[in-house]
Amino acid sequence: MSTYKELLKTAYEFLKSNGVADADVDSWYLLTHVFGLSRVEFFIHGQEICPKDKAKEYMKLIEKRANHIPLQYLLGTQEFMGLEFEVNEDVLIPRQETELLVEEVLKLSNNKSVLDLCTGSGCIIISLAKLGCLKRAVGVDISEKALQVADRNRKVHKAEVEFIKSDLFDKLEGKYDIIISNPPYIKSLDLASLMPEVKDWEPVLALDGGPDGLRFYKKIISDLYRFLNPGGHVFFEIGYDQGQAVKSMLQSAGLTDVDIKKDYSGHDRIVYGRLVLN
Ligand code: GLN
Repeated sequence: MSTYKELLKTAYEFLKSNGVADADVDSWYLLTHVFGLSRVEFFIHGQEICPKDKAKEYMKLIEKRANHIPLQYLLGTQEFMGLEFEVNEDVLIPRQETELLVEEVLKLSNNKSVLDLCTGSGCIIISLAKLGCLKRAVGVDISEKALQVADRNRKVHKAEVEFIKSDLFDKLEGKYDIIISNPPYIKSLDLASLMPEVKDWEPVLALDGGPDGLRFYKKIISDLYRFLNPGGHVFFEIGYDQGQAVKSMLQSAGLTDVDIKKDYSGHDRIVYGRLVLN
């Protein structure tokens, strides 16, 4: 038998001794998740004995977190662009830096058709559909399981988005005004050095960008002319060291106004360009 306060302390210490980086934040979030306590309620009831079954449930989650399962998979959600998205081990957890991609695309997506390749949880295209005013929104992924998550997110947010199971453009027809993608872009050999939360639990399909990390950019760029309307835009999220490579690839493919945008930490994060036909 223990009080809420004691339980939280035990959990915090357990996470810390297992090398979990944000042991304090994570032990707290899981506590609110299981017991539904707010900060104020915890302050008032912290010295009371907590229900045994719930305490057991909580410590089970703490054990999983100590095994480096990401917090978001345990909570089942991640916030992105102010919206809550369901996540599980079939999808990449939406990253805050990806919000930059959405913000950039929102600036010019009014009444445009938008295609999101490697949609994963659907966080990008659903945010665009909810926060913008698109003509059409389509999300594509090769993973059936990822698309099931994306479709549940679409329903929860009542977003007008079509999801299609396809290996990039394979099953697609017609052209779009804007094509965007945050594809897998980690070099295969670098996967092993990622933090355990990522390398052991996030889907490798959503991470592995091939030997040079550029596999998906190459494939997408080689088909752009077939799927992008004249005057259309392309936006990629990239790894911090891939800006110049992806920029050159877009320029070689004949796109104009190609440039790189940095994220709020000062790293190259977005590469974009425009297809102008003379
Ligand atoms: N588009 C999704 C995201 O940005 C998934 C990306 C991926 O699986 N590489 O979160």
